[in-house]
Amino acid sequence: MKQITVLSGKGGTGKTTLVASLAALTKRIVVTDCDVDAPNLHLLLKPEVIQTQDFGGSNKAVIDEIKCIKCGKCEESCRFDAIKDVIVDLVLCESCGVCTYVCPVEAIRLKENLSGHAFISKIVYGLMSHARLNPGEENSGKLVTLVRQNARKIAEKEDYELILNDGPPGIGCPVIASISGVDAGLIVIEPTLSGIHDMERVLSLLKHFQVLPLVCINKYDIDQENTRRISEFCKSNSVEMVGKVPFDSLVTKAMVAGKSVVEYCSKSTVSKSIEELWKQTLEHLKKKS
Ligand code: SF4
Ligand code: SF4
Repeated sequence: MKQITVLSGKGGTGKTTLVASLAALTKRIVVTDCDVDAPNLHLLLKPEVIQTQDFGGSNKAVIDEIKCIKCGKCEESCRFDAIKDVIVDLVLCESCGVCTYVCPVEAIRLKENLSGHAFISKIVYGLMSHARLNPGEENSGKLVTLVRQNARKIAEKEDYELILNDGPPGIGCPVIASISGVDAGLIVIEPTLSGIHDMERVLSLLKHFQVLPLVCINKYDIDQENTRRISEFCKSNSVEMVGKVPFDSLVTKAMVAGKSVVEYCSKSTVSKSIEELWKQTLEHLKKKS
């Protein structure tokens, strides 16, 4: 089984719409949405949930009102101002545990808090592992790990050969969780100066984790000069450029229709370029094994 994570360094580069197209081209695949803070791949892949799992990513202070003698020591000691009038604000609580230590009657304990849910769903092209973190909750890296573990389990059980991860934006903890142990990282960038900078940051992350880097330029024709720069950078750093996708308003029309562009208009130039990009990506993956 092979695993690829599609990355972008920042949001809004067309990564998710590309992932939806790649899933549609593959036909039998396990897809994950690792952007658990703001998932949106479900809008295009329309998953039918078959399994839901609670995610308790964090511990929060809980006060036993019967035991509490209302001495106020916990409120005084909480440096995050998470306790007011013997009520814990779950959003402000940082799980440090100081209140449990200072309470003279052991009326406070840390309890696992429901931070979100993980889902396994059916999609037209196979299966999907995804999740949703509750607003204000942290630990998205841990939830991404759960999403990937679930994907691996169902892929092994149902004998799937490929897992395609839609990675979170940025280069933080959730991104690291989305690339650990994958066979390739496909970076999607736009030909802008910030795009080049983002690509360099993601490349160094992939290098650190010894993941094969592949690059594709989305809307390459909006700035030919920057496209040339990216191509040269890739060439001089021995990074494979697997494709260039042109700007096309069909992509937006497809999104509005709730479809990937390859489903919406398979004969279009943009769809053909995505097909070619996917072909190149899979060939590099094959060579690696
Ligand atoms: S666990 Fe820490 S942050 Fe949470 S309420 Fe207690 S002292 Fe405050
Ligand atoms: S420190 Fe313990 S007893 Fe005192 S107010 Fe807080 S929970 Fe109640």
